Amino acid sequence: MPKYVYDFTEGNKDLKDLLGGKGANLAEMTNLGLPVPPGFTITTDACRRFLEDGGLPEGLDEEISRHLTALEGRMGRRLGQADDPLLVSVRSGAKFSMPGMMETVLNIGLNDQSVHGLVKQAGGNERFAWDSYRRLIQMFGKTVQGIDGELFDEALEELKHGRDDLELEAADFQRLVETYKGIVREQTGQDFPADPHDQMRMAVMAVFESWNAPRAILYRRQERIPADLGTAVNVCSMVFGNCGMDSGTGVAFTRDPGSGHQGVYGDYLQNAQGEDVVAGIRNTMPLQDLERLDKPVYDELMKIMETLENHYRDLCDIEFTVERGKLWMLQTRVGKRTAGAAFRIAVQLADQGLIDLDEAVTRVSGAQLAQLMFPRFDGDAKTSKITTGMNASPGAAVGKAVFSSERAVELAAAGEDVILVRRETNPDDLAGMIAAQGVLTSRGGKTSHAAVVARGMGKTCVCGAEELEVSTKERRFTAPGGVVVSEGDVISIDGSSGAVYLGEVPVVPSPVVEYFEGATDQDDELVRAVHRIMTHADATRRLKVRANADNAEDAARARRFGAEGIGLCRTEHMFLGDRRQLVEDLVLASSKEERDQALAALEPLQKADFVEIFQAMAGLPVTIRLIDPPLHEFLPDYTELSVKVALAGDRAEEKDRRVLAAVKRLHEQNPMLGLRGVRLGLVIPGLFAMQVRAIAEAAKAVEGARAEIMIPLVGAVQELEYVKDEAQRILAEVGVEALVGTMIEVPRAALTAGQIAEAAEFFSFGTNDLTQMTWGFSRDDVEAAFFSKYLELGVFGVSPFESLDRDGVGRLVRIAAEEGRATRPDLKLGICGEHGGDPDSIHFCHQAGLDYVSCSPFRIPVARLEAGRAVLTSTDSDTR
Ligand code: ADP
Ligand code: MG
Ligand code: MG
Repeated sequence: MPKYVYDFTEGNKDLKDLLGGKGANLAEMTNLGLPVPPGFTITTDACRRFLEDGGLPEGLDEEISRHLTALEGRMGRRLGQADDPLLVSVRSGAKFSMPGMMETVLNIGLNDQSVHGLVKQAGGNERFAWDSYRRLIQMFGKTVQGIDGELFDEALEELKHGRDDLELEAADFQRLVETYKGIVREQTGQDFPADPHDQMRMAVMAVFESWNAPRAILYRRQERIPADLGTAVNVCSMVFGNCGMDSGTGVAFTRDPGSGHQGVYGDYLQNAQGEDVVAGIRNTMPLQDLERLDKPVYDELMKIMETLENHYRDLCDIEFTVERGKLWMLQTRVGKRTAGAAFRIAVQLADQGLIDLDEAVTRVSGAQLAQLMFPRFDGDAKTSKITTGMNASPGAAVGKAVFSSERAVELAAAGEDVILVRRETNPDDLAGMIAAQGVLTSRGGKTSHAAVVARGMGKTCVCGAEELEVSTKERRFTAPGGVVVSEGDVISIDGSSGAVYLGEVPVVPSPVVEYFEGATDQDDELVRAVHRIMTHADATRRLKVRANADNAEDAARARRFGAEGIGLCRTEHMFLGDRRQLVEDLVLASSKEERDQALAALEPLQKADFVEIFQAMAGLPVTIRLIDPPLHEFLPDYTELSVKVALAGDRAEEKDRRVLAAVKRLHEQNPMLGLRGVRLGLVIPGLFAMQVRAIAEAAKAVEGARAEIMIPLVGAVQELEYVKDEAQRILAEVGVEALVGTMIEVPRAALTAGQIAEAAEFFSFGTNDLTQMTWGFSRDDVEAAFFSKYLELGVFGVSPFESLDRDGVGRLVRIAAEEGRATRPDLKLGICGEHGGDPDSIHFCHQAGLDYVSCSPFRIPVARLEAGRAVLTSTDSDTR
């Protein structure tokens, strides 16, 4: 039978899969000799079994009992013992942190008898004991029994009657216990469970079940956390921050998660327990003030934070409690941080010698880099700032103010940019936070729910803007000076400075983009950090990075961003605009002469386009794809034209009639699977020849030009041979050399890659089409029609158009790469679908042995970084 329960002394930080992050790190701290209240962890394995079987796995009850008995022995008191009770917390903790998503119940073991024992234990402190008891019923009722938390909150508010919670007395809490018990009875039809063992068992099961709560599912989908991991449960002996002003509870970071700077960052709340500090019940004090309150505890905490940072070699965040002058550590983990802080911290740690540059590169991600490339607010713009809150998560967000999660989702679905404004957020606001451009709260610090979750999502957030009076009911807030912002009014929030502006503030490019664009001044600390990381990633990576670019401007930008060539130059854009007429002439041509005339008119235009691109790329390879889309895409819309012709009746122009006939003739049921790509080349005489000639002439005209001619949509080597022969004849005529290769985007091409490589000098995987055809998904239809359902059902965790499907599409890529190279060992391999800029897909390309990835110019820095990371990390899940 598997071992389902681990004492804190048995685990360590590397057992996150099994013990969850919280459990693994509690064990790690225990073994470091830090003051952690004793306890044990029930594994994720047990959770998975529970969720599958719908009940606790066999033997778990006994195993828990054994560990509980050991814990009781150690603590010298039994769970819920009437005269001297041991109390425990039952805490969720999954492999990846999911702030506030799952459940925790404190003070388990209290009932009408043991509450008196607790009074005695606490030297007669009645207030503390009854406060703890009412908290138990409240948390248990809400999370284990599923009672609406508002009911408890309302009862508490009523009892307070405007008083601060510190003003409440023992008798108040004792009354509250009775009220709460009444709520439980009313809502569940049963009494609050008095048996401490029942309490614990029920709480354990509730934590397991919370893994599949709707908000947890939504969060996992957003964060791409696999749905089948399960959560561990930690049973931890209680320590109490709510037994007087010499006690309290707090949260802290070892560095500023916004900037990465070293210092003391945290919040502390006296005489409080658990979530009080993040829930905003009272204003917290900055952690620095603890030095004044209790210097020995403060000094010890500082020492522990240093120990943790040196041990984890990274920014850590911690949760701690002080019980009558004694410090207890309740949690630590490598802390979430903003994208900018990630780069700065990685370089700072490397400079401190805690990590090397290889590791520094693995500590940042392409997603973070992409975030740093977002524009910011224009510092010179005329703005009207209405207040400043805390800079919780950077970025510049502009949108209409909305005051509920539902409204945010609604307006966002209608295409509006919105800013979600709340007094404070809670896990039920998650959908609205995802939908919004940014989040603004009037309460809570940098460790509040809004701040933590927004940072995790990379969403702009300003929190704790205390000057704002937010009225959710009236859907508006007021700012100093009588400014009123109602739902729908546009506001701008700056997550880097905390500023809140009325109206739309213009945005400017980020300094990181300006650095990539070639700006030389590097006095920005962030830019210097990005430079160090990128330099090392470039030195490390094996994959080359090319750009998808169709014009000289994009090509030039791509080069500045570090592109080592163009992997995909589409030629169809060169058929648009005022050249449409020429394409129309081509389609309508009724004789060879007419057709040749149309082609002859197009050729110099194409040549001029290519010349510019070759010039921009200055000798770097340029892969040009011959025309791919169906020709009717260049003709007028069928319905519009038929209406026009019908309305004109007899007076309809001859030409319109001919175009209409052509549109009709070319109409296809499934254009994606119709007359396009290489098929056009075989069916329309002279079309590909014209393009090849234009490429050849352009290459001849530009010194050092390196053309690679790419044939789209090939499924059989015969198609390619036909086109290639013609192309090589033309190249010879013009007197230039160029590689001729093909896209691999039809499954048959991948499966016959060994044959195709006889003719192809390179392969470029067109993974957009390859994904469409492998899955049989019409991309333009399925994404809107049912992908959200598929994601919900977990058919896939992420759209296969976004991130390459390794098992299916990836398998075809591997087959083609292997069999193609078996035929032609020096076969050049690249990828030019949208996946070329997706971190996880880039790692796949590295592993599959491709030579390069090609992506849009703006993704190039991301691709360079991820190509470097791919060398340094062996697991596949690390790009999250
Ligand atoms: P989360 O995963 O939401 O952070 P936790 O399991 O960390 O939930 O519990 C929330 C808070 O409850 C902790 O920050 C801590 O303050 C408090 N807490 C949990 N266990 C104990 C304990 N054994 N003694 C005292 N406080 C506890
Ligand atoms: Mg916690
Ligand atoms: Mg294609």
